[in-house]
Amino acid sequence: MSKNIIVIGSGFSGLSAAAYLAKAGNKVTILEKNESPGGRARKMDVSGYQFDMGPSWYWMPDVFDHFFADFGKKVSDYYELLRLDPGYKIVFGPNEEMSVPADYEELKALFESYEKGAADKLDQFMKEAAYKYEVGMGEFVFKPSHNIMEFADLRVLASLFKLQMLSSVTTQVEKLFQHRHLRELLKFPVLFLGATPEDTPAMYTLMNYADLKLGTWFPLKGMFQIVEAMVELNQSLGVEIKTDHVVERLEVNQKNITTIHTNKGNFQADIVVASADYHHVEQKLLTLHTECIQKNTGIKEPWPLPPSFIISALQRNSTNCCITICFLMKILKCMRMKFTRMLNGLPNHCFTPA
Ligand SMILES: Cc1cc2nc3c(=O)[nH]c(=O)nc-3n(C[C@H](O)[C@H](O)[C@H](O)COP(=O)(O)OP(=O)(O)OC[C@H]3O[C@@H](n4cnc5c(N)ncnc54)[C@H](O)[C@@H]3O)c2cc1C
Repeated sequence: MSKNIIVIGSGFSGLSAAAYLAKAGNKVTILEKNESPGGRARKMDVSGYQFDMGPSWYWMPDVFDHFFADFGKKVSDYYELLRLDPGYKIVFGPNEEMSVPADYEELKALFESYEKGAADKLDQFMKEAAYKYEVGMGEFVFKPSHNIMEFADLRVLASLFKLQMLSSVTTQVEKLFQHRHLRELLKFPVLFLGATPEDTPAMYTLMNYADLKLGTWFPLKGMFQIVEAMVELNQSLGVEIKTDHVVERLEVNQKNITTIHTNKGNFQADIVVASADYHHVEQKLLTLHTECIQKNTGIKEPWPLPPSFIISALQRNSTNCCITICFLMKILKCMRMKFTRMLNGLPNHCFTPA
């Protein structure tokens, strides 16, 4: 049955969620606090010039293809994509630069020029990275996580051992390559995960596959083209985007959000999808919810806690643990949903102040 759904935020995640929910036949409204959509990927116009405010690296073009294909569309229906060559340039210091070619054979030659035998080692490294990318995307990222049984597949379980969860990116890279520049080239992509290569599981060399094989791309006319494409898609699906609407509070009663309070009045919805930052939603928009849970359960941190937090708190190496857990989050999410449902059923667990 069609539901009335409100999505908070029009960043990539909100626009994506809204499009899928509308495609499933729901009436979807996005409430966005800024005057324009896009979130961290929005643009700024100054004197006729347009500036992208956030992302500039377009990696993993397959993810964008996959998204638009779900709606019977192609990326080229919305924007023209260029593969950059060189993909980018690394400046190591004065007169120390490396341009990274798009062509793999040229890349191998570049590696060999730094270090004898490095081209063959790159082949070996990329073969493993390709496996990690295929398994990581195919078996984890693109699965809907409706049920933990989605992951109960022998091939998937067996793959966990080949994903090199226990050694780090640094160990893996330094085992094969000696030259400082090659090491730095292969270690930097994990910065996109907000982590250091020392603390990141070697499974994340899948980022090197995304970088060096799939390439660095750029939409002609800028990254905001992606936002415009997603907005156009949403509009074609009947999604209404209300900008300048700041969600100030989510009023909850028992287990449901009853009212969405904004600076432009109140809204009701059958379902609310919050795509603003997790911390903001938990601690600023759901304050009564948080206070009540703290009072009734004695839990100091807002609930539901991300599983990664709980587990990383028990570990010494919290960064490494967090990243590993993020990847396994999809599995844990199913468990967490079950546990939250169980908690909701407890008689002393209410969402309104006593
Ligand atoms: C400087 C910078 C460079 C980056 N570079 C890259 C890159 O090169 N490649 C890459 O892939 N990624 C990059 N990223 C990361 C990427 O931009 C983000 O991961 C992505 O845009 C996040 O999308 P999101 O929808 O999750 O969140 P957001 O874009 O933050 O969207 C959340 C939305 O919710 C809205 N909102 C928040 N609170 C409320 C409220 N109370 N009421 C109503 N609306 C609300 C916000 O205004 C925002 O529009 C970069 C990010 C930054 C900041």
